[in-house]
Amino acid sequence: MLLKKIEDALNEQINAEMWSAYLYLSMSLHFEHEGRTGIANWFRVQFQEEQAHALALMDYLNARDGRVVLQPIAGVPDSWESVKDAFLATLEHERKVTSLIHNLYAMAEDEKDFATRQKLNTFIAEQVEEEDSVRQIIDDLTLVGEDGTGLYQIDRQLAARTYVAPQL
Ligand code: MG
Repeated sequence: MLLKKIEDALNEQINAEMWSAYLYLSMSLHFEHEGRTGIANWFRVQFQEEQAHALALMDYLNARDGRVVLQPIAGVPDSWESVKDAFLATLEHERKVTSLIHNLYAMAEDEKDFATRQKLNTFIAEQVEEEDSVRQIIDDLTLVGEDGTGLYQIDRQLAARTYVAPQL
């Protein structure tokens, strides 16, 4: 039997994942408008990944006979000073998401909800990958600085990213 407090916490996490999706969609649209189509592509794939995170939690709640309750998605910023600013904001946000998932995991552990704890393992691993890939991009952006050719090369590199459904 799924505890109400775990059900509520999972619903909150679903909302957080949907907000992440909305944030990255906003970044994608911003950079599309700026003509940075590779960066826009990277954030569009990120948007798809976040929707997959939310859907995986919804599927899990349903599998546990819980009730998914969709809450309104709060507004997101719609412009960033630079590509690097957007990636720094992404890293900061993903660190926040990581701590939310860790809190959820701790709650599942306290309540001896082993199934939820097990489910969250894949999310914990996913967060390590998320933070690592964003950090690598930030390192590259720091390296090229304001160099136009360098930024162009990063844009082309990120243009190659394609969506692969995460195994959750
Ligand atoms: Mg996520």
